[in-house]
Amino acid sequence: MSSRAFWGADIGGTTTIVGSFSGGTGFRRLAVLETRPSEGPGRLFAELSSTILGADPEPASVGIGIAGLVDRSRGWLEFSPNLRGWEGLDVASRMGALTGARVVVDNDCNAFAYGAVGSGYVPSGGLQVLVTLGTGIGGTIIDSGRILYGTGYAGEFGHMPVDALGLACPCGSTGCWERYAGREALIRYFTGTGGGAGGPDPREIAALAADGDARASEAFATFGRWVGTGLAGLANCLSPEGFYLAGGLSNTAGLFLPSAREEFGRRTRHPWSVAILPGSSDAGALGAALMARDSAS
Ligand SMILES: [Zn+2]
Repeated sequence: MSSRAFWGADIGGTTTIVGSFSGGTGFRRLAVLETRPSEGPGRLFAELSSTILGADPEPASVGIGIAGLVDRSRGWLEFSPNLRGWEGLDVASRMGALTGARVVVDNDCNAFAYGAVGSGYVPSGGLQVLVTLGTGIGGTIIDSGRILYGTGYAGEFGHMPVDALGLACPCGSTGCWERYAGREALIRYFTGTGGGAGGPDPREIAALAADGDARASEAFATFGRWVGTGLAGLANCLSPEGFYLAGGLSNTAGLFLPSAREEFGRRTRHPWSVAILPGSSDAGALGAALMARDSAS
């Protein structure tokens, strides 16, 4: 492989996607690895680096998007509700030592947004807001194609309180948006029990809803109301030109967008402008690779 390939990995709470980008071929996905957060980062990082080195013995630059709060200047994962126990992980130096490459690290949603803008899925003009719905909720604010970081951590929409005294969140707060519009919440609305573990997969609930199952449809309607609540709050704060939804649960948007839109209309006068990003599973790794490329130039 040409040394002009840039590597990107998207480390999520469930899976990790790794691939490379080069000007000639665009992005090529190389592997999908299981993250298995409870095992700690050692096994995943070893698999990740051997995957990269197997294809490119001398990688020049690797970009990593990882789910959680990232100190970009040091390349550290500071905090992550979805990668518990990984806090304080020096991602850049560990991956650098394993691969010999220069490593840049950012939040997974920011990497995804970078890929979505780079691919033309999100306009490079105006104020745009990207929201990823999956195990947790991530977000990125993009102003004229540039990610807004604030002091470093803008876009943590998943931990925006939507029910001040509500459910406890692993982040230490209560009533965070992702406790109501994340994967486990959807499963909880369907099963009617407190936890999401061991319940049916969102895809199975979506299949039931598509078949007309009333309980599954109502679970999606409830889920949508919470999606709409959070989007309305963001619209009132930011007045963006458009929202872009991505992440695993965005594939089921047809089932929850009607109630989301209704709830949104109840809570804001902002016009509804919500699009679903297509074919988005590789965009995080692509964005991480583009970050690696742009930081090298
Ligand atoms: Zn939280």
